[in-house]
Amino acid sequence: MRELLLPSGEAVPVLGIGTWGMGERSGNAARETAAIHMALDHGMSVVDTAEMYGDGAAEELVGRALATRRDEVFLVTKVLPHHATLHGTVAACEGSLRRLGTDSIDLYLLHWQGAVPVAETLEAFENLQRAGKIRHWGVSNLDVTNLEDLMRLPGGQKLATDQVVYNLTRRGIEFDLLPWCTERGIPVMAYSPLEQGGVLDDPVLVRIATEHGASPAQIALAWVLRQPHVLAIPKASSPNHVQECRDALDVRLTPGDLADLDRAHPPPTRKRVLEVI
Ligand code: NDP
Repeated sequence: MRELLLPSGEAVPVLGIGTWGMGERSGNAARETAAIHMALDHGMSVVDTAEMYGDGAAEELVGRALATRRDEVFLVTKVLPHHATLHGTVAACEGSLRRLGTDSIDLYLLHWQGAVPVAETLEAFENLQRAGKIRHWGVSNLDVTNLEDLMRLPGGQKLATDQVVYNLTRRGIEFDLLPWCTERGIPVMAYSPLEQGGVLDDPVLVRIATEHGASPAQIALAWVLRQPHVLAIPKASSPNHVQECRDALDVRLTPGDLADLDRAHPPPTRKRVLEVI
């Protein structure tokens, strides 16, 4: 699988799996676990979760799913902004580690910026890193101005990623955030790459899918992954959906396809405030 380099030089695959909504119904656990295992079988080893998802239930499901496969995974979880104080971040991280059944998180993100000064959260991230509880840290839902402020803080240069919404219907980051991150060698992690299923009945997408003998989800993902500095974390909670997502990597969109998609969903021509889901 194609990989991207984090600023530390570590390689991560361009496709992973999201888990928002998983772990919330015991009847779905076997299917969701099978989906995560299928993702690992295909090398989609970035597993994204958060303490917020199901109030810890997603992390618990991920922890059970990874019990015997922890070393195959690049594990990402997030601290809620109101926990992100100097001591609160450490307590939240310890809660996540317990639910995930692991000693260390590969990438720990500030879920979004709240009232706690980011400098304080960064200090906590540094402490967690020194203690070996997280390997890398990053942020989510921060726009360029906030990123610029963050990079000026002590240790700010160690920012590993910004996880933001990016899909065919939400292209705002192409104007400034994506070029800003690219110039600095910071990969962007695209969440909701399928617009939570909302792009899948787009008529242009459906037509292009038919022409490629692919599914609309595959075209939507192939479109996100055409960007060389973006990695995507679709949430697929069944093995079939995971397989389809994996096969999106084999889809080659033509210049004509991309032009048709641009006409239907034009790229931004001016700054737009970062969208958040
Ligand atoms: P996605 O855009 O990934 O869409 C998920 C939906 O698409 C689900 O309904 C899923 O169905 C469906 N789907 C997946 N694969 C296929 C397929 N091959 N064919 C048809 N439908 C498919 O939405 P999310 O919002 O879940 O985003 C992905 C992940 O990003 C989250 O799970 C979370 O980890 C992260 N995220 C982070 C945010 C942040 O603030 N940092 C905010 C939002 C998301 P099914 O479940 O049945 O497979």
